[in-house]
Amino acid sequence: MPTMKILISNDDGYQAPGIVALYEALKEVAEVEVVAPEHNNSAKSNALTLHSPLYVHRAANGFRYVNGTPADCVHIALTGLLGYRPDLVVSGINNGANMGDDTIYSGTVGAAMEGYLFGIPAIAFSQTEKGWKHLDAAAARARELVQQMLAKQMVGTQPWLLNVNIPCLPAGEIKSAKVCRLGRRHAAEAVITQTSPRGETMYWIGAAGPALDESEGTDFHATALGHVAVTPLKVDLCDHERLGYWAQSVAQLSPKGQA
Ligand code: MN
Repeated sequence: MPTMKILISNDDGYQAPGIVALYEALKEVAEVEVVAPEHNNSAKSNALTLHSPLYVHRAANGFRYVNGTPADCVHIALTGLLGYRPDLVVSGINNGANMGDDTIYSGTVGAAMEGYLFGIPAIAFSQTEKGWKHLDAAAARARELVQQMLAKQMVGTQPWLLNVNIPCLPAGEIKSAKVCRLGRRHAAEAVITQTSPRGETMYWIGAAGPALDESEGTDFHATALGHVAVTPLKVDLCDHERLGYWAQSVAQLSPKGQA
């Protein structure tokens, strides 16, 4: 089997322990290259930088870093920087959970999704808690998952997008992978205000809300029990189930006499 080529990115920045651990783990099973943001870009989702130039530099360890977003990194890697098409795009390991509604905001998911949008299979990896505790165990589990998918030829021509959350546990305590639906969170906590040294009000986005739907079958539920949560994601935002309802409703809005 020819060696697979994996592009690695993240949203915590190229110096984050999570991406270093992921690189060290995956380089044992594939040819890996890192193109990642220079600075922390958490919660940047799929944002692209269109109004300022992007620069790419290479760090001493070989990682390339970009003054842009996670999606910028994967986008420029795939559209000219790499000069080849990777077989898999992997993002993470993120510092904290990306479950339920987090997936909408997550730059970790955004980087993986950019690969998926270019027709390449992609995986976003996150640890369920911040602080990098048991990171080696999470990286080993990520490697195991990728290695097994390569061996079972799940990384082929068909693109797919997986969101994977790994519980912060020692290696021996992380349970099997479970395929899950996304849970839901309550609305975010209130904005936090402070007064700047110049007397202006500063606003800080509040913390993500606690779980609203953490019932059986969700990513919240699986990881709370120690399982690795694997959620297949899609990008189509269209509400297919309600197309009929809206067709009828919008028809009622049409001016009289018009088809
Ligand atoms: Mn992050």
